[in-house]
Amino acid sequence: MNHYKNILLAVDFSEHGKQVSNKAQAIAEQNQAQLSLVHVVENLPVTDAAYGPIPFDVDLTQDWLEMSKQKLIKLGTELSVPEQRQWLELGSAKLEIVRVAEENSVDLIVVGSHGRHGLALLLGSTANGVLHHAKCDVLAVRLQDD
Ligand code: AMP
Repeated sequence: MNHYKNILLAVDFSEHGKQVSNKAQAIAEQNQAQLSLVHVVENLPVTDAAYGPIPFDVDLTQDWLEMSKQKLIKLGTELSVPEQRQWLELGSAKLEIVRVAEENSVDLIVVGSHGRHGLALLLGSTANGVLHHAKCDVLAVRLQDD
């Protein structure tokens, strides 16, 4: 059996993320593979129910990127992933995850999956999107509380 050499863990910093990162770390150890991390900052909401509309000239992207960078560095330290293998991207999560995987010869992408049904399934979750577009293997880790 071929071993995975280059594993990419897609992280959204959600409360369920630990289940996904534990699994990715275990598979990386079993395969003696290199582990990398990717986080994608997606389009920011322009309204918030609690605060009302956010003015269009307020650019929160840089703040958001900086906050995400700090979270990525923290997770990288926890998982022993050096900064050269931590990818922080801007855009569509599914497309950026797949792009980073292709550009770095990743052979396994690990994502969490909520196993949604009905309308959400029709619209597609990030896991579905990655599975659809990726050219390498994808492991969708079923999140426990579903
Ligand atoms: P979702 O279907 O969007 O709830 O997310 C399912 C999984 O996709 C998460 O557990 C992550 O592995 C990955 N994911 C979701 N959003 C992002 C993001 N912005 N950046 C990187 N990975 C993400």
